[in-house]
Amino acid sequence: MRFLPVFLDLQTGPVLLVGAGDLAQAKLRLLAAAGARISWYATDGNHDVSGLDAADTARIELAKGDPLAADLSGVIAILCAGAGDIGTAMSARAKAVGLPVNVMDDLAHSTFIFPATFIGRWRKSIHGRIPEFPLRRRFWERVVDGPIGALVLAGRADEAEAALKDIRDPTAFAGASASGQADGRVTLVGAGPGDPDLLTIKALHALQDADIIFYDELVSSEILDRARRDAARVPVGRRVGKPGIGQAAINKLLIGAAKSGQRAVRLKGGDPFVFGRGGEEVEALREAGVAYSVVPGITAGLGAAAQFEVPLTFRHEALRITFLTAHKARDAESVDWSVLTDEKMTVVVYMGMTAAPSVRAGLLAAGRSPQTPVGVFARVTRPNAQAAVGTLDELPALIERIDGGPAILIIGDVVAHSAPWRQSELTQLVSYFQVAAE
Ligand code: SAH
Repeated sequence: MRFLPVFLDLQTGPVLLVGAGDLAQAKLRLLAAAGARISWYATDGNHDVSGLDAADTARIELAKGDPLAADLSGVIAILCAGAGDIGTAMSARAKAVGLPVNVMDDLAHSTFIFPATFIGRWRKSIHGRIPEFPLRRRFWERVVDGPIGALVLAGRADEAEAALKDIRDPTAFAGASASGQADGRVTLVGAGPGDPDLLTIKALHALQDADIIFYDELVSSEILDRARRDAARVPVGRRVGKPGIGQAAINKLLIGAAKSGQRAVRLKGGDPFVFGRGGEEVEALREAGVAYSVVPGITAGLGAAAQFEVPLTFRHEALRITFLTAHKARDAESVDWSVLTDEKMTVVVYMGMTAAPSVRAGLLAAGRSPQTPVGVFARVTRPNAQAAVGTLDELPALIERIDGGPAILIIGDVVAHSAPWRQSELTQLVSYFQVAAE
């Protein structure tokens, strides 16, 4: 690799621009938009800055005289665009004092490059050959991310140019199907329990690649903030007090988006395949013949366990884990609690807030000890996360202490190892000694 991609700190000094005409104007706009201070030597004497706004113009010094005699102290880089032979001479001067210099379209005289310059020259002709914007974007992504981009960075612009010229069918290169339309697809993505840093790298890539995102009510705005800025965002979950649009309608939207050539992301809280109805969506996509893939996410139970230090398994103490849902009292009634009485089993209950009294009743009736440690963990991995710990017997009272969901229950001896449990023991101990001292 000849060129290392780095970022120039424009706050540290002015950039010297030498040149004239459209080429210099384009560089002027680019630098001004990036917030640079610019010292501009117009080699044809025409300092036209009419296209720029006042704030940008204020940062431009219209330099007079011979650029080859310019004072270079404090200058951080030199750009020559449309400067003719002066560009070559300027390059020699810059190199002599060790300043980074770019002579437009002249690799031999440049010590840094703008890869975008390369794209810029081709933009018009590709625009004509791929009129659809999403497909065109994909074309450039593949150029930049692929061997052609690597050639540019290696300083082999001629070869890169030749390779670009060699692309006979740009729409096919961009990944279009035979019909000439972009190949749409659906990615089911697990968003995790809330903290955006718990997204997988694969999930992040899918979000940054998406044309459209269908998201659930459990997905935090911090996570949506990580998505590509111009991706469309469609809420499809339940809203406070309002029902969702329904699974059949969601399936229809996903299929429709993919069939119209979009890269759709179906973004769900936690993991798509843990009480997330991801299975049903996959079946609908299969049936419709739509391409899809699934990116796992950190399920709420694991997020709660990590944040509040509940080891879900523990040597000799907890050998099994059951994830179950008890959304409504009716669901709770249909659970066979007798299989959950093994005291070496940790039970993780999703959607268990309202059904908590039935969960308690079911487990106690089946014979699990009322002294079994229990934790209620709300809004886990979010800034306002909350925990309440106690015994199975006290479960409904623990729920009362929680200021709003979503919340998950963890039931089992392992909860006694958790951070909030240890904290509550400490608090009890302190108040015991305080009482004793009085
Ligand atoms: N697919 C999701 C679960 C969806 S069901 C996952 O894998 O996590 C919705 C239930 O998940 C909620 O009722 C609650 O029990 C749990 N849940 C989701 N996010 C949570 C969070 N941040 N904190 C606590 N519980 C959460």
